[in-house]
Amino acid sequence: MDTFNKLIELFRRFPGIGPRQAKRFVYFLLSGDKPFLEGLVSMISALKREITQCQECFHFFGSSLGIVKSAHEQVTALCHICTDKNRGDEELMVVAKDIDLEAMEKSNTYRGRYFVLGGLISPMERRNPDKPRLRELQIRVGKGVKSGMLKEIILALSANPDGEHTSDELKRMLSEFPVKVSILGRGLSTGSELEYADKETLKSALKNRSTS
Ligand SMILES: [Zn+2]
Repeated sequence: MDTFNKLIELFRRFPGIGPRQAKRFVYFLLSGDKPFLEGLVSMISALKREITQCQECFHFFGSSLGIVKSAHEQVTALCHICTDKNRGDEELMVVAKDIDLEAMEKSNTYRGRYFVLGGLISPMERRNPDKPRLRELQIRVGKGVKSGMLKEIILALSANPDGEHTSDELKRMLSEFPVKVSILGRGLSTGSELEYADKETLKSALKNRSTS
């Protein structure tokens, strides 16, 4: 396969990008001038170097915005939310994606901790490219329970079949822990994505969360 088609295949792996859009991206790059293309290339190669994944909540963050310590060849990376002493440890909000965490943060209505699941559990038997971090969530909740601080897990997943199925599965999975598990209120209309919800909607969804 030539570079043109290889690039199309790479762009097709981006979320929500079909073959025609992928091809448009490649033509766009071909029409771009040299400084633009070089800037893009160097930005992409710096991405993994400058953006770190938090080992506590799995949120991606700029290395300058948190703590990245390396001792004995072991790197500990904690984001600014996990290290913020002004936030409470009583509540842990589970979101599917980084972008959902950002929407919630922007709404300025929640002051607890987060856990980024990284995907949803699909009720269909189809291939799931984004595997949710179930084991990691169990470890995180176990740690919170052991510290005696964690009191409530708030499942903030989208109001669509995958999101609801995942909430059910997580409730079952987390029932072994002595903590309350609540689900974000349905101020979020059916099928809506957390990332597109406005501040007022998120605020009322958080206020109207339920344990049933
Ligand atoms: Zn974190």
